[in-house]
Amino acid sequence: MEKVVNLAKRRGFAFQSSEIYGGLASCWDYGPVGVELKRNVKNAWWHDMVLTRHDIVGIDCAILMHPRVWEASGHVAGFTDPLVDCKKCKERFRADKLTDVQCPQRPSKHPGECGGELTESRQFNLMFKTFMGPVEDTANVVFMRPETAQGIFVNFLNVLNSSRQKVPFGIAQIGKSFRNEITPGNFVFRTREFEQMEMEFFVRPGEDDRWYEYWKAERLTWYGKYGVRPENLRLREHAKDELAHYAKACVDVEYQFPFGWSELEGIANRTDFDLKQHAEFSGKDLSYFNEETRERFVPYVIEPAAGADRATLAFLVDAYDEDEAEGEPRIVLRFHPRIAPVKAAVFPLLRKDGQPEKALHIRDLLAKQFPVQYDQAGSIGRRYRRQDEIGTPFGVTVDHQTMQDDTVTLRHRDTMQQERIPIDRLVSELKLRIEGDQ
Ligand code: ATP
Repeated sequence: MEKVVNLAKRRGFAFQSSEIYGGLASCWDYGPVGVELKRNVKNAWWHDMVLTRHDIVGIDCAILMHPRVWEASGHVAGFTDPLVDCKKCKERFRADKLTDVQCPQRPSKHPGECGGELTESRQFNLMFKTFMGPVEDTANVVFMRPETAQGIFVNFLNVLNSSRQKVPFGIAQIGKSFRNEITPGNFVFRTREFEQMEMEFFVRPGEDDRWYEYWKAERLTWYGKYGVRPENLRLREHAKDELAHYAKACVDVEYQFPFGWSELEGIANRTDFDLKQHAEFSGKDLSYFNEETRERFVPYVIEPAAGADRATLAFLVDAYDEDEAEGEPRIVLRFHPRIAPVKAAVFPLLRKDGQPEKALHIRDLLAKQFPVQYDQAGSIGRRYRRQDEIGTPFGVTVDHQTMQDDTVTLRHRDTMQQERIPIDRLVSELKLRIEGDQ
């Protein structure tokens, strides 16, 4: 993990927020390479969950919502974690995750095992509160949303009436969420500001078990499709006593992070709880009428809820590898081409004979299609190494022969093999190899 975090900082994947002021705990900024990586993760999700499906539509809701939303959803009363204080070091910990963290003073021990006495656990609400408008009193309290899902539920009717969708159908959203986590950590795994990729799939009651199984399989397959190794993925079904009170079933897609198996995504059968709650609190009828069967019902909801930052971290960790190139150790990120932040790098072999001009021309040609870098500094081996470290799948080199026959060498990151390609076929070849059949 330390190696990944160091590489992330050195190569511009992620930086500590406000670093020059000493940093803000658990907040991270994505750098020039990281922003592309995370965007690719989100685009891959949107591509597969919205664009290529005809039964799911997208939405983008405001982060601030009516305070009643969070009463109806149960977050005001119940979105809490149990918290304990250590009387010795005065630090706070999540009572249900004590074995996941270290004592700040004795890192080989867990809190409570270090001789420090822990207080009784208390419930702590994770929602960030702020005030709307110029008056800071209780009447103006609003919350920063702790999940994107509620924006979807409260827009159920709007989407239904404006999109001509029929149950079963889904509404998907990618956006920021905020949770005042007691013990954030493990880089971008658990932060207080993060991005979620959530989809609520509305189904007829009675068909929910089938759709739950369907989404379990779909979502597990999704990570593998973009290159996560199958041995690092598993499904973990929640035991009955672990389930939220409204959930009929829930399963986590887990990834084997360097710090252990941990949740990447949760898939839950939320029953008709959310729509019924919002119907009751808002006074609006949120039932669905099936014209064909003349049947009226409140749909059940199957929710695959993923974290964009956690997924980005999983893709990064999974891609990390060390091997040897030309007798020297190299760090290589073996990203799937769709996930790789930079798709190709263009190099002139020599800084003369018109090669840089030709290479810049090729860079501009490729840049119209996807992120590409140009590099003319240092030996060609070192330039390849720099690209391997950020996982660029293709290297394009302009050499002496290019100036004669308009072909370039295409070097493959993983095999390090090279082939010769005419420049006029370069764009289409690369697009095919990056995008595949989508
Ligand atoms: P955890 O048990 O790890 O706190 P959760 O079960 O509360 O997570 P959900 O409410 O199911 O999480 O949210 C769906 C997804 O959002 C999670 O699977 C995770 O990928 C992401 N997520 C939740 N909390 C955080 C966080 N604090 N930082 C980063 N991602 C998060």
